[in-house]
Amino acid sequence: MKVDSKGFQELFLHKARQALKELESPQEQVVALPSDTVQLSQGGSHLNFSSMVLALSAAAPAGGIPLLAALSQETAQALITPEQEKLHSERMRAQFQDVPKVDDSRVSRFWEDVSAITKSPFPAPEVFQSSFFDASSDVETMSFGTTMLESELKDDAALAFTIAHEEGHRQHRDTQGAKGLELFADLCLSNDELSSIGIQVLFEGRKQNEREADEFAARVLSQMDIEKDQVLTFLSAFPEDNLHPAGSERAALVASAWT
Ligand SMILES: [Zn+2]
Repeated sequence: MKVDSKGFQELFLHKARQALKELESPQEQVVALPSDTVQLSQGGSHLNFSSMVLALSAAAPAGGIPLLAALSQETAQALITPEQEKLHSERMRAQFQDVPKVDDSRVSRFWEDVSAITKSPFPAPEVFQSSFFDASSDVETMSFGTTMLESELKDDAALAFTIAHEEGHRQHRDTQGAKGLELFADLCLSNDELSSIGIQVLFEGRKQNEREADEFAARVLSQMDIEKDQVLTFLSAFPEDNLHPAGSERAALVASAWT
């Protein structure tokens, strides 16, 4: 699945211009950028990609990184067609056609609940007889490996949470959003001033997607027969990395989203 870079820049600029207008105060306050002297109020509609990125990162109250991440994801999601999504999903599946699949009664049992509660439009998870697969999802597919089901996901609460979390990624179209984050970071890479913003946006966007998938899962599991404390213990053990918030933060978020 590829996002056209030129189309991305055009649509991103369009969305960014609107976001910038909303950020500007009604009193037409003019903000001078540290990097150059572009004035947002006067120059707002003519800013190119790099000026726009700098303008938004400077103008937004929280530093603009979350805003740039959201805009990048929305832009990619708007550009990727259902045909591209289908093709991408078929290609992913074709790679694994020789790996044997098994029925797993625990996965089936929890999927029945998760799919009913979330009204999932997607196919049931696939379980591969493999130590290679962890829990993952893309545009359409969700997959698990048997080794992981027998180890990290041995506990029912951990498995139910993971199925609901991956379903959250599918329903939020995070595979498509992540393409936007990657393209944004690529576009920033060629510019010294922007390259660090690009990486921050990529990581922040990915972490935001994890938080939203966790909240989605918490709301689903609170309607199932699952012990909340077991889910919190499972989450607390995860370390923080560039793409995932720390386990303690995830557990706190899930505790507060549990209804
Ligand atoms: Zn995730």
